[in-house]
Amino acid sequence: MIKTSEKIQSFETKVVHAGSKNEDQYGSHIAPVYQTSTFFFKNVESGAKAFAHEEGGASHVYSRLGNPTVEQLERAICELETYGIDHPENFTGMAFGSGMAAITTGIIGVAKGKHIIAQDALYGCTSQFLKEETKPLGMSASFVDMSDLFILEMELKKYPNTVLVYLESIANPTMTVSDIEAISQLAHENNALVMVDNTFATPYHLQPLKLGADIVAHSTTKYLGGHGTVIGGVLVANKELMEDSEIFVFRKNLGGISGPMDAWHTINGVKTLALRMEKHSSNGMKVAEFLESHPSIETVWYPGLKSHPQYELSSKIMRNGFGGVISFELKGGFEAGKALMNKVKLCTLAVSLGTVDTLIQHPASMTHSVVDEDLRKQAGITDGLVRLSVGIENADDIILDLEQALQSQELFK
Ligand code: PLP
Repeated sequence: MIKTSEKIQSFETKVVHAGSKNEDQYGSHIAPVYQTSTFFFKNVESGAKAFAHEEGGASHVYSRLGNPTVEQLERAICELETYGIDHPENFTGMAFGSGMAAITTGIIGVAKGKHIIAQDALYGCTSQFLKEETKPLGMSASFVDMSDLFILEMELKKYPNTVLVYLESIANPTMTVSDIEAISQLAHENNALVMVDNTFATPYHLQPLKLGADIVAHSTTKYLGGHGTVIGGVLVANKELMEDSEIFVFRKNLGGISGPMDAWHTINGVKTLALRMEKHSSNGMKVAEFLESHPSIETVWYPGLKSHPQYELSSKIMRNGFGGVISFELKGGFEAGKALMNKVKLCTLAVSLGTVDTLIQHPASMTHSVVDEDLRKQAGITDGLVRLSVGIENADDIILDLEQALQSQELFK
């Protein structure tokens, strides 16, 4: 575990000010959007020095390499993911045009030609990339249940060329919570790095770097942006690791950097992260308890419920609650879930999560339909599983909507 500094600003204050430098030439209070593709050089020398990374060169060259608005977002998320860590200045963030651009660029940079051991339950496109696209890129991947450290240890022995262990702090959509500290220790003993997608938990609830992980990934499309207006992603890691793995070069040449306007939307979203997460979480708890007590519901997966298989671990590694995503299965299985999703009125039937309004969707036919079928079964992503992203509306209204939609369950008795 990385040591924490003693006297630090509260997280709620940090999110409001994260990344801002207040150095705009016109004194603009809110960060301006540097909506430009290229930057002029004062003279040829300044341009050449910028390309050679020499002192005295222009600070910016071309927005596929870097942009001041994008850099503000990178600083902001880096400050939040390294909150309370000693020497946060050793870390850096890198923003991308989507969560998938961040994840794939990070994996390619770190794993280059080697083996990746991944969690069996992962966001659909991450799972598909690891399962199907790593081989043509000269890498390989295998999948295990990360909640069983013994299985992970065996897999590390089976694949001694493993350079990366990949997981989600709260897995999409099974809500499995992993012991990042123990996994990181085991991976490091076997010379592998650990990359954690922290999209569901956000740094408000959990900081993987503090638990020993090496790289954090986010789909900023979700809670960090918060309002469903942008697609984006970010990576945060130690500067040395970013450099050694050439992630910056891969981002430059694969071209996955965030656009300035998307970064700007996300910067503004991040400022209310603490406020929003507090409400997402308290609503999440109320809705999870309601669902668990409903006679038509078979099982609810929410890390804040005592019935969750990793409740104790979640209570230990998460602070201020457990987020706003819930998965559940109805007694009537897939047909019952379909009827429920077609009957909701306040909740919106849509993929994605982490928006201020409540979203509901069906992983097996939507977000996880691209996952290898055997892997989907191994991970416990059943055909009947419904995923709910609880918004910041009044919890009673969300519950009322679910209650009226659940009346359709009479059909399945
Ligand atoms: N990681 C998780 C956990 C996700 O849920 C998603 C998208 O749903 C992604 C990554 C991919 O992010 P994006 O859609 O921004 O590419």
